[in-house]
Amino acid sequence: GDPPLAEMHPVKRALLPHNWKCLIKDFEARPSVTHLLEHPFIKQAHGKDVALRQQLAVLIQEQQEIGCKAKTKHERINTRKTLIIESCPDDDLVNLEFLDEETIICHLQKRYDELQVYTYVGDILIALNPFQNLSIYSPQFSKLYHGVKRADNPPHIFATADAAYQGMVTFCKDQCIIISGESGAGKTESAHLIVQHLTFLGKANNRSLREKILQVNPLVEAFGNACTAINDNSSRFGKYLEMKFTPTGAVIGAKISEYLLEKSRVIKQAVGEKNFHIFYYIYAGLYHQDKLKPYRLPEGTPPRYIDSENCKVMQDIVSGKLYKEQFDAIQECFRNIGFTEEEVNSVYRILSAILNTGNIEFAAITSQHQTDKSEVPNSEALESAASLLSIGPEELQEALTSQCVVTRGETIIRTNTVDKAVDVRDAMSKALYGRLFSWIVNRINSLLQPDMNICAAESCMNVGILDIFGFENFKKNSFEQLCINIANEQIQFYFNQHIFALEQMEYQSEGVDASLVEYEDNRPILDMFLQKPMGLLSLLDEESRFPQATDQTLVDKFEDNLRCKYFWIPKRVELCFGIQHYAGKVMYDVNGFLEKNRDTLPADIVVVLRTSENKLLQQLFSSPLTKTGNLATSRARVTAASRSLPPQLGSGRTKVDTMEMMRHPEETTNMRRQTVASYFRYSLMDLLSKMVVGQPHFVRCIKPNDDRQALRFCKERVMVQLRYTGILETVNIRRQGYSHRILFEEFVNRYYYLAFRAHQMPETSKENAVAILQRAKLEDWVLGKTKVFLKYYHVEQLNLLLREVI
Ligand code: ADP
Ligand code: MG
Repeated sequence: GDPPLAEMHPVKRALLPHNWKCLIKDFEARPSVTHLLEHPFIKQAHGKDVALRQQLAVLIQEQQEIGCKAKTKHERINTRKTLIIESCPDDDLVNLEFLDEETIICHLQKRYDELQVYTYVGDILIALNPFQNLSIYSPQFSKLYHGVKRADNPPHIFATADAAYQGMVTFCKDQCIIISGESGAGKTESAHLIVQHLTFLGKANNRSLREKILQVNPLVEAFGNACTAINDNSSRFGKYLEMKFTPTGAVIGAKISEYLLEKSRVIKQAVGEKNFHIFYYIYAGLYHQDKLKPYRLPEGTPPRYIDSENCKVMQDIVSGKLYKEQFDAIQECFRNIGFTEEEVNSVYRILSAILNTGNIEFAAITSQHQTDKSEVPNSEALESAASLLSIGPEELQEALTSQCVVTRGETIIRTNTVDKAVDVRDAMSKALYGRLFSWIVNRINSLLQPDMNICAAESCMNVGILDIFGFENFKKNSFEQLCINIANEQIQFYFNQHIFALEQMEYQSEGVDASLVEYEDNRPILDMFLQKPMGLLSLLDEESRFPQATDQTLVDKFEDNLRCKYFWIPKRVELCFGIQHYAGKVMYDVNGFLEKNRDTLPADIVVVLRTSENKLLQQLFSSPLTKTGNLATSRARVTAASRSLPPQLGSGRTKVDTMEMMRHPEETTNMRRQTVASYFRYSLMDLLSKMVVGQPHFVRCIKPNDDRQALRFCKERVMVQLRYTGILETVNIRRQGYSHRILFEEFVNRYYYLAFRAHQMPETSKENAVAILQRAKLEDWVLGKTKVFLKYYHVEQLNLLLREVI
């Protein structure tokens, strides 16, 4: 197969600096730009791209001139520095001499053509989706990327995991790795690889714990991922996985938080898309085990929820081995992680009940007096569903076809029309699935909780990995896309804050001159969505509370209240609005927005499900499920987060009513109902609160083409993604900026070995910090009022020196 990258790469490395030196020498001997342009090395590097070749020629000319004329020491140092940087330019965009888009794209393309899918921008990792299996993730590679200097190896996702791990162990600080990118760009795969490497680094010598942790992702993804038009394994929920370590860095457990599961997929899928994987796995698995009968699943035609016509489901199920194998794998995951057989069986029963629920049909009863009443003509599906849920079929039918309304102390039974009954049925399916999913996540968390005998809760440390659905822009975009895109807007804001805004503020307060790099601040868009009471989500909530509201009144409300350039109503299309997201323009179709936001589950359904004899089902509906289990901690965390956030973020938005937020969105109670939008807003805050306490590491996944083809690099597509993720600005600020700022005191405490004897215990003063910096022979650092300002590569140099000394 391919030569391993580790073997290939030193050769490539050696070639470039050599070329560079040769070119300058050549030019000194024969100073002609025309000659340079035709030089084989330059042609080799940039082919037909004359503009680039010219730029390169100009650069060489300048270099030569500087080299000749360098009079002052300062100038000479500068020349040398450029040469040093230029000698290893390949792996890090920060080192590129020209920072225009075209150069960056060409550089990435060249690397991609050579299957170098990873590239750094300072400490940020760019990951291009290879769309083919690379042989660079084996245990040998894990060893290669274990606690070594970053520049010793080509860029790699393992290096990012290693950096987070080393950061945690060295500074006793929680870390978080934020993976972003469009759908299909490779976020989920990257998250898996990070978990894989962290379990390796975390010395999980307890084999069973290691296996458990490695199986969390596959298990949760069987329930939360689905085949979409863009990605065969698209995550339909956001996931924050925290890996827990002892202070010495041994992995001891894990915890997942889930965000915004796209429940509507259970009942309906767009053309060419599928339901959540687990439904096919279980149907195929039970089919092949001849167990459809005990789960009362229809043979012959698959249940309606998984039988979208475009999928040839039955054919896949009967002939394909894949689903069956995946079913076996899931069973294995359940067993390994520690679910009991009874629990797994209950899960299968509920899934089968959902599939049967989808097959329940309704017919209108038309008699003279009653026209808006419905009944279930074919009772088989109804009875199957009821039996699997361990509830009475009559009670279920009642709850589906009628509703109790209490007005002024009087209870009235209202009958449901066929349409209404269908809605109730689907709402029940969605609620069952949503709560089952949350339960599985909670159960995994309790099974993977760190053993308190090994490590006290307060001393355990985290590396969190965020894999959240990417920005989406389809032909038809609905409420789900809106939520997903707002989440991405928020993540981008966090990225900007971290990379740009916080940096600027700190420079200013420390009196360090910062020729500020401009960047696209997406805060106004975020405000438009999240502000109270006039933000888009608040307006949506307000309108959702009016029973008479329609999708049209909602659009009108938006139009009247949202006055900003990021929002508009198109002239000719009805029930639509457009948003200028940081990642591009998206048109949203308002049809069904209100219903989706209300996400009501009638009380009658809750009441009947609570009568179930199935223990798991009782649990799911006994009390409102809480996401984190512990209200008090959660509230404390949200408050803490609002304090540590930058002022823009901390204000207004963080004042969430935690009690209100902990209720499950679809539940109707006597209290004011919780909408999806308000729950979503809370989830976002909860997520941010977890992220802000840690040191962030960013992985930017990029999709090189839309055809999922290996080795196809579509310049325009990559360009768009680079543009909106702010990579260009990032390159700039990473190159010029000081990404590490350490208090003098902390700096001296950490590094005094480099300039003092161990027993000396130097004073933690500015002067001593300077002494250390000089002794370490670092260049280009700056002193602020209270902190040393270091470039991203300095810390690595310091740590390396430290390792040599200690
Ligand atoms: P996202 O989570 O960003 O939507 P995924 O991680 O699911 O995207 O990746 C989509 C597909 O791309 C995967 O199913 C896989 O086929 C391919 N892919 C992504 N990353 C890699 C990788 N590092 N190596 C090989 N294939 C990959
Ligand atoms: Mg994904």
